[in-house]
Amino acid sequence: MKSIGVPFYFRTATYDIQAEGLLVPTIQAAVISLAPNASFGEGQAIQAHYAWEDGSLFVVVRFQGQEWAFRDTEILDTRYTDVDRERRLKERVRLGVRRVFEAAYGLAESPWGILTGVRPVKMVHSMLDRGFTAEELRSMLLEVYALSPQKAELVLEVAARQRPFFHVDPGNPIGIYVGIPFCPTRCSYCSFAAYPLATHGHLLRDFLQALQVEIREVGSLIRELNLQVESVYLGGGTPTTVQGSDLENLLGLIGEHLSTSATREFTVEAGRPETLSRETLSILKSGGTQRISINPQTMHDATLEAIGRRHNVADVRKAFSLAREVGIPLVNMDIILGLPGEDLSHVQHTLEEIGAMQPDNLTVHSLALKRASRLRKNLDQVQIAQEQGEAMVDLARDYALSWGMDPYYLYRQRHILGDLENIGYAQPNTESVYNIQMMEERQSIVALGGGGISKLVAPDLTLIRQANPKCPAAYTTHIRESLQAKISLLRKHLSSSN
Ligand code: SF4
Repeated sequence: MKSIGVPFYFRTATYDIQAEGLLVPTIQAAVISLAPNASFGEGQAIQAHYAWEDGSLFVVVRFQGQEWAFRDTEILDTRYTDVDRERRLKERVRLGVRRVFEAAYGLAESPWGILTGVRPVKMVHSMLDRGFTAEELRSMLLEVYALSPQKAELVLEVAARQRPFFHVDPGNPIGIYVGIPFCPTRCSYCSFAAYPLATHGHLLRDFLQALQVEIREVGSLIRELNLQVESVYLGGGTPTTVQGSDLENLLGLIGEHLSTSATREFTVEAGRPETLSRETLSILKSGGTQRISINPQTMHDATLEAIGRRHNVADVRKAFSLAREVGIPLVNMDIILGLPGEDLSHVQHTLEEIGAMQPDNLTVHSLALKRASRLRKNLDQVQIAQEQGEAMVDLARDYALSWGMDPYYLYRQRHILGDLENIGYAQPNTESVYNIQMMEERQSIVALGGGGISKLVAPDLTLIRQANPKCPAAYTTHIRESLQAKISLLRKHLSSSN
């Protein structure tokens, strides 16, 4: 079977790029997307040439006796600008590099073609905004970006489902994110802001006090600017590492200062089932939580142990039924495909078990070997289910569709299993509006807490980012020293879009 397999992915080789300077970064990016450890200098030659002839574009790429040549006439469409034409040149070269590498190394074509960005649906939205039809976009996704027909349909379907959620003004209503960067233990695949309680629990009290200050200040700004908050997302880490009266106080503060009359969604990333006692779930419910995530990742105890989670399958079942008993309206479950030692039969078993619980949402992640994760560092100790990645994604989709769910948001990551994607599925009318707005960057998100990254979206959909420190100790200091600067930045951008 041909594959973009782990051995090729992690190979080191040096390539000599022979092309006009304009194309060099594009060629480098194309190579790095296939083999992140590649370097550039004296080595195997990659040649690329292009010519504009009567408005059409001719591109040729050569590597190790392989040649890819293409004449693009679609770019003659008068809706395209000079910026579009330059982008198209780079896209064609990128595809050419991919094709000659696939031929030279015997690699399978990626189902995502050259659409390597994190947010493939965002590009579709911007083209829909510009008046391109779904039919035109379908052929663009297939011809220009070289997506598989299945991925092209997926992107178009998700875009169509998301568009009714968009608002005219990206600065009002806004979304709110609150980050709690603590976890019971650190999972082996984790690259998030997640500090284990055993080593960092002593920082929790100061962290919560600093967060209280930030919540009050942002709340005042919301009232001052007369902003509406559409959704609140309490994430992390694992927010339910905060328990008892601390959790009650936190939810009370969020309800009082950050929710408004327009708030239609309050999600808590409950994540680790071992943090979800009946008492904790009751506090979440009475604190106004409408949606929680309980994330099994897999329904196999041996895998859970291998990836450093401290709960077992029985804990997942118990937490889920307690959540239903206390009346949390919506429950999402996350799973990860391609965990070490797991094949298609393991995934099928996990899906059968999840189907029996009947969650409202299912989020399907393909394993990503992120640089900061322990799993990436111990690659030789794990067996990656690379070859079966696509079959796993298809299996998860078939199960989700059979339960009546539809895909409603998706994103991709670097170093992801089989060059695949993460997909959120939901029963009709249970889609998380926060997930849609955050992923498509159509709404300003004000982020508080550890590791929170605020994204302020201007009317032309350009973005300004502001990041809070991830480390709880640094966050506490940051709030003492820099909160007023952050509030000024938020005021400037959120009042100008009013
Ligand atoms: S529960 Fe999530 S945030 Fe916490 S360590 Fe595991 S992957 Fe990271």
